[in-house]
Amino acid sequence: MKARDVSGPGRRVIAYVGVGSNLDKPAEQVRSAFRELDGIRGTRCVRTSSLYLSSPLGPVEQPDFINAVAVVVTGLLVETLLEKLQAIEDAHGRRRNGTRWGPRPLDLDILLYGDWRMDTARLVVPHPGLQKRSFVLYPLLEVATPDLRIPGCGSLRELVKGCREDNIRRL
Ligand code: ATP
Ligand code: MG
Ligand code: MG
Repeated sequence: MKARDVSGPGRRVIAYVGVGSNLDKPAEQVRSAFRELDGIRGTRCVRTSSLYLSSPLGPVEQPDFINAVAVVVTGLLVETLLEKLQAIEDAHGRRRNGTRWGPRPLDLDILLYGDWRMDTARLVVPHPGLQKRSFVLYPLLEVATPDLRIPGCGSLRELVKGCREDNIRRL
């Protein structure tokens, strides 16, 4: 099914959402985000991974992260889904001060949206970090088949093979 077809009644897309937090009781932030994803209009959270502890990426000195992946089934267009995710981030006190990869109470990224591919200033799908990030690939492997096709990147199995598990710990 083409992702753009979802506007019709009853059409549904499986999307994978990356969830991360490293401020204000991160594990609670992540568990509460799972419930809030299920509360988005036209959207059900059907599966969630374990929580993983990971060391932060990038140049900013900051606490370790809790990361996980949620599977949602949604009738929303991808742009609308992003708006809903950002509203949840905002409700968790996320401040958008222009620092990418800084500390945050909640980060919700659209990893995959069906077999959809797009690359605009606002939205890149599949999420460009997915291919290399162990804290995304290992939780994803818990909630998806290893045969899952990552548009433009081959199978999940292939990506996991190329990615070491050294920076994360499953809780
Ligand atoms: P990263 O995207 O590398 O994990 P980040 O999650 O810290 O970094 P944010 O500050 O949460 O980055 O988001 C910055 C912008 O990224 C958002 O305003 C959004 O428009 C854009 N963006 C592009 N593609 C996606 C996506 N697939 N999911 C979520 N946001 C995205
Ligand atoms: Mg992110
Ligand atoms: Mg983000």
